Amino acid sequence: EMFGQLTTGFETAWNKLRGVDVLTKENMVEPMRDIRRALLEADVSLPVVRRFVQSVTDRAIGTDVIRGVKPDQQLVKIVRDELVQLMGGEVSDLVFAKSGPTVILLAGLQGVGKTTVCAKLAFYLKKLGKSCMLVAGDVYRPAAIDQLKILGEQVGVPVYSEGTDVKPSQIARNGVEEAKKKKIDVIVVDTAGRLQIDKAMMDELKEVKKAVNPTEVLLVVDAMTGQEAAALVTTFNIEIGITGAILTKLDGDSRGGAALSVKEVSGKPIKLVGRGEKMDDLELFYPDRMAGRILGMGDVLSLVEKAEEVMKQEDAEEMQKKIMSANFDFNDFLKQTRTVAKMGSMSKILGMIPGMSKVSPAQIREAEKNLEFMESMINAMYPEEREKPELLAQSRERRRRVAKESQKTEQQVSQLVAQLFEMRARMKKLMGVMQGGSIPALSD
Ligand code: GDP
Repeated sequence: EMFGQLTTGFETAWNKLRGVDVLTKENMVEPMRDIRRALLEADVSLPVVRRFVQSVTDRAIGTDVIRGVKPDQQLVKIVRDELVQLMGGEVSDLVFAKSGPTVILLAGLQGVGKTTVCAKLAFYLKKLGKSCMLVAGDVYRPAAIDQLKILGEQVGVPVYSEGTDVKPSQIARNGVEEAKKKKIDVIVVDTAGRLQIDKAMMDELKEVKKAVNPTEVLLVVDAMTGQEAAALVTTFNIEIGITGAILTKLDGDSRGGAALSVKEVSGKPIKLVGRGEKMDDLELFYPDRMAGRILGMGDVLSLVEKAEEVMKQEDAEEMQKKIMSANFDFNDFLKQTRTVAKMGSMSKILGMIPGMSKVSPAQIREAEKNLEFMESMINAMYPEEREKPELLAQSRERRRRVAKESQKTEQQVSQLVAQLFEMRARMKKLMGVMQGGSIPALSD
C-alpha cells in the first residue's frame, strides 16, 4: 500500500491525543515525535522534517479550540494543511506555448521510467485534444529508440527518429521543424539518461535545450528513490534549469519521501505522477489529494469541501436545524440526493471516498440506478408521508400503496423507510463534520 507506513505513523500520533481537551505544548510532544519519526522513516529529508514539525507545532498550540472539533481532529486538519503547503499548495498545470508548438523536454536518469513517460504523456495530451509527436533523442541505446517507436504506435502518435548517428540536439531541432510543418501541437523530446549524473549528459541536455527552446523542461524521477529524487531535481535545476518534475512509480511501495520533499528542497513543483505501467497511468499531481491519501482519509476533505460549495450556507443551516430536531424527512432525502447529483457524477463522488476508489464502473451504474429507484418510490408518497416518514413506518397499508404505485415491492419500500431513519443518524454526523471543518468523523 502506497504510503502505508507513513499513514500508520500518523495514526499513532492522533491516537495519543484521544480524550485530551486542548492541544498544549506538553501533550503535543509525543504525537509530534511520532510524526517526526514517520516522516523520517518515509525518507523525507531532515531539514524538511524539522521545518514541518516546527510549523505544525506552532500552529497547533496557537489555535483556538473550535467548538465540536476534537483536538486530535484539529491536529489532523493542521497536518493536512501543512502537507498540502509542503507539496506546493496548488496543482501545477502543464504550460503550453501561446503560439506555435509546445516543446516538452524530458530528462532523467536511466531506468526511472522516462521512455514510458514519453508515451504516457502523449496519451495524456491526446486526451486533452492535442496532437503530439515524440522525438527519439536517446541515441546511445538503439533499444530505447525501438521501445519508443513501439510505445508511440501503441498510443497512436508519430515518433521522429534519425537513428543513432546524429547529435541529439540536431535530431531535436529537426523533429521540431517536422512537427511545425505538420502543425502538431506538442512535441515531447526524449533524451539520453545515464546511471548517474555526469558532465557529458548535462552538456548534451543543455545543447538540446538551446536547440529547441522548450516550453517545459521536466525531470523524470523515481518515487522509490525517496529524498534522493528531491536532490536530483535540485541538481538538474541548477545545471540546466527545469520547470518541474514528473514522479514515477508511485504505485510501488514508495514511502512518500519524494512526493513530500521535491518542492520544498528544489523549489520546483511536481507536475505529473505516474502510478503504473499502463498508458493511462499518468495524472496531474494534486497536493491536496496526495495529503488526503497520506493521511489515509482518501479524499474525504475534497468531498466535504465540494459539498460545502454546493450546499449554500442557509440551506445547510436550515438542514442542520431539521436534522437536529430529528425531522429529516423524505423531502430532505430527495433534496439531499439531488445535491449529491449536482456535485458530479456518482463515479466521481465514490472515487473520493476512502476505499471506494476501486469501485468498478458496473457498481457505479448500480449505485446510480439505486438513486433513481429511490426517487420513484418517494414520488409515489403522499406529501404528508414524505414529511412524516413515521406514517409509513407505522402503516403496512401505506407501504403497500407506495409499492404498487411505484411498481416496486413492499419489501423495497420498507427498506427505503428504514434507510431514511438510518440516514437521520448518519446525516447528523456528516453535518457535524461540515460545520466543524474537521475530518475523521466521516470514516468511523
Ligand atoms: P527509462 O530507462 O527511464 O526510459 O525507463 P523505462 O521507461 O524503460 O522504464 C523502466 C521500467 O519501469 C519499465 O519496466 C517500466 O515498465 C517501469 N515503469 C515505468 N513507469 C512506471 C510506473 O509508474 N509504475 C511502475 N510500476 N512501473 C513503471
